[in-house]
This record gives sequence, structure tokens and C-alpha cells, in this order.
Amino acid sequence: MPPAQPTRLILLGDPVAHSLSPTFQNAALRSANVPLVYEALKATSEELPRIARELRAQGAAGNITIPHKEAFALLCDVRTPLAEQVGAVNTFWCEDNMLVGDNTDVHGVMASIDRLVAGDLPPNSVCAVIGAGGSAAATIAALVARGVERIHVWGRTPARVTQLQHRFGKAVLPMHDVNAAVENAALVINCTPVGLHDDSEPVAVETLPAGCAVLDLVYKSGETAWVRSARSRGHRAMDGLYMLVEQGAAAYERWFGVAPNRDAMWQGLGEYR
Ligand code: NAP
Repeated sequence: MPPAQPTRLILLGDPVAHSLSPTFQNAALRSANVPLVYEALKATSEELPRIARELRAQGAAGNITIPHKEAFALLCDVRTPLAEQVGAVNTFWCEDNMLVGDNTDVHGVMASIDRLVAGDLPPNSVCAVIGAGGSAAATIAALVARGVERIHVWGRTPARVTQLQHRFGKAVLPMHDVNAAVENAALVINCTPVGLHDDSEPVAVETLPAGCAVLDLVYKSGETAWVRSARSRGHRAMDGLYMLVEQGAAAYERWFGVAPNRDAMWQGLGEYR
């Protein structure tokens, strides 16, 4: 049964003030004449259970961002199989007085991979994932869904890499060194915040194998230094803005049962791009 029309659209996180989601979601809502405003709401971990109860009572829908995706998953009454697999919820809505949690980050990564390397990722190719948090889990789910069987994962906290291996099984190959992780990779994906606040690189561009594609989940106006540098060396490279819009578009579709006007979303981001 499709969900009822949401009464509110909320982005929960901490911090949330600088999120681009309200900008492009509100552009899509306006273009479809939906009389709702997508609001960012800062919430501490302590406030989360109470807010989840209120959102359920109100029949709200929305998104969850850092650092609450895992905690919110546990507060949902029902999780989609994808949210169960990833262990995190970034999209929710209400159905039959229940809070339903999904993970559209997986769709966002998948759409980005398809755009970057469409049809150029055979099952025997190696992909490298740098980082071992929530977005790494969504990325591994996307790679597994695309049939990739060898995923090198490096994280600075090895226990988190081990957790990912338990979650996803033998496709995840833990690596103890980031340079070893990218060796022979056809696609390297940054799932850490490195490069968000400065021009540092998750792995030196010089160590990337010739011809490998580069996907940075981090986004910033004018792209990240890592993406720009990789492209200048001849790599296909893309930052996380496309993922952001695609995870948001998939969320919109969960809330309303129809696809949003993606052109309106991108136009809404005009100045940022
Ligand atoms: P997370 O769950 O906190 O995980 C972050 C990972 O990065 C952890 O493995 C962490 O290691 C590692 N890390 C943090 N700082 C590091 C550093 N200086 N050097 C090496 N590793 C470091 O966060 P997340 O949800 O996966 O998000 C990670 C980033 O992805 C975000 O900052 C955001 O920029 C991006 N993202 C983008 C989108 C999008 O739509 N484009 C969506 C989600 C996330 P420890 O475990 O040791 O702390």
C-alpha cells in the first residue's frame, strides 16, 4: 500500500544548518505545487527517540543525516530489506501508524557508479572503498547489487571494517593499508569526510592505478580537490553532489509515489554548482 501523503517533511541531523537537501527538495516541491516545506531540524542523540515518536504521531516523512542514521534505524517500526542490509536509515515515512525506514543512499551511490562507469565494471573487477562508516556500508551494498565480487575496504579503525565484512560477507576484503586497497582497482570510492574542509586527499592521486575511475562521496562547491586532481591526470572522476540529488530524488519518490522533477532540483542548486 502506498504511504499516505506526509503532513511534514523533515531532515534530522546534527549539524543540519548547512545541508543542501532543503534547497533542492523545496525546489522540487514548488515545481509540483506540493503545499509542504522541507525543514531541517537539529536533533541531539538524546532527543531522537522523542522526536521519532512525534514524527510517527504526526504522519511525517523525511530524511536522516549524520550522525543519526544507525540510531534512527533502531527507532523505526519497520525497515526495508535494504535498510536492514545496510544497518542505517536515511529516509522515513509513516504507514498504518508505523515509522518505516529505508536507505536511498544505496540508490544514490548506484546511480553515481552507473553514471561514472556505466557497463564498465565486470564482476571480476576490484573496487576500493576508503572508509568504514555508514556511507561505506551503503556503497558496498550498491557494489554488491551491481555484481562486484571483490571489494577492498580500508578504514582507519579496523574493527569497523571487520563489522562490514560480517554484514556483507566474502565480497568484502579488509585491507590494512590504503595504498594496497587501491592497487588494481577499477573504481576507487572515498567514503570518509577527508577533503570536506580542506584540499586533503583520502589517498594520493599519484598512487591510483592508471585508468581507474574515482568517486568521491564528499561534495563541495567547485568539486573536491581530489576529484579535480584525479581528472587532470586522466581519470574519470565525480564528486558526491550527484549522489546527494539521487538519494533525495529516490526519497521523494518513496514519500509521494511519483518521481520528482530532477531538473527543478538541479536548478535549485544552481548557485552551488
Ligand atoms: P561515518 O559513518 O562517520 O564514517 C566516516 C568514516 O570515515 C569512518 O570510517 C571514519 O573512521 C573515517 N574517517 C573520518 N575521518 C577520517 C580521516 N581524517 N582519515 C581517514 N578516515 C577518516 O560517516 P558516513 O556517513 O560514512 O559519511 C562519510 C562522508 O561521506 C561524509 O562526511 C559526507 O561527506 C559523505 N557522504 C555523502 C553523501 C552524499 O549524498 N554525497 C551521503 C553520505 C555521506 P573512524 O571510524 O575511525 O572514525
